[in-house]
Amino acid sequence: MSETTMRPMVEVSNACKAFGAVEVLKGIDLSVERGQIVAIIGPSGSGKSTLLRSINHLETLDRGEVRLDGVLVNAPLKGRAFERHINAVRQQMGMVFQHFNLFPHLTVLENVTMAPTLLKGLGRGEARELAASLLDKVGLADRVDYYPSKLSGGQKQRVAIARALAMQPKVMLFDEATSALDPELVDEVNLVMKQLAEEHMTMLIVTHEMRFAGEVADRVLFMDAGVVVEEGAPGDIFREPKQERTRTFLRKYLAA
Ligand code: ADP
Ligand code: MG
Repeated sequence: MSETTMRPMVEVSNACKAFGAVEVLKGIDLSVERGQIVAIIGPSGSGKSTLLRSINHLETLDRGEVRLDGVLVNAPLKGRAFERHINAVRQQMGMVFQHFNLFPHLTVLENVTMAPTLLKGLGRGEARELAASLLDKVGLADRVDYYPSKLSGGQKQRVAIARALAMQPKVMLFDEATSALDPELVDEVNLVMKQLAEEHMTMLIVTHEMRFAGEVADRVLFMDAGVVVEEGAPGDIFREPKQERTRTFLRKYLAA
């Protein structure tokens, strides 16, 4: 195998982060292979969002390293040089949050064409073509000219996914992309994520939906209090967790 195919797409080593006196990440190691789908589960406050945000450098780690396709994300650069570096890196990571942050004054199509036009210098026609095909893929071909305020939560979230995909990222990071949605809108968003999984998009998915995690993930990682307590194949984690903390979490979760 060549070096590129062996190198993990995302590699986090010894990630440490404190907010004041509170240690939120206590030495996280994580490796995601190209095309792999990793689900991160764990109680609220365990550091899942901080971990995802650190991968994207929306949070600055106190210690540890993040690599994207071999490139050190938190590189020891300063000022403008770091800004240039991080902007280039971020263009290769798509991120979808719980709360859709679409531009309200732009149409669906314009929301999707904006980044590739501005950041990749795509021509107007080319960008529109790309956006139209991505919106078709997420099932919104008939909504391209709508404004976000006219869309349901599930539709907005699908636009957010199309918008992230428009940059042709190397990895997609999802942070509870469906937890703010009405239950009947969850499936349509999960379906898009499953479709991406089938296309071998590399994905890190923070989720509270155990069933979905079990269906979509190659690996499940259970976090608690800033550490990775346990990780493994979904079947093993859900059916035969080795750690007591994992068992307790799943029991509570499944009882709820
Ligand atoms: P999760 O996503 O697993 O619910 P978070 O990563 O959001 O967990 O949060 C982990 C801990 O870090 C929580 O105790 C949270 O209150 C704290 N935290 C997160 N972000 C900040 C911040 N910007 N400032 C201070 N504390 C924070
Ligand atoms: Mg969170």
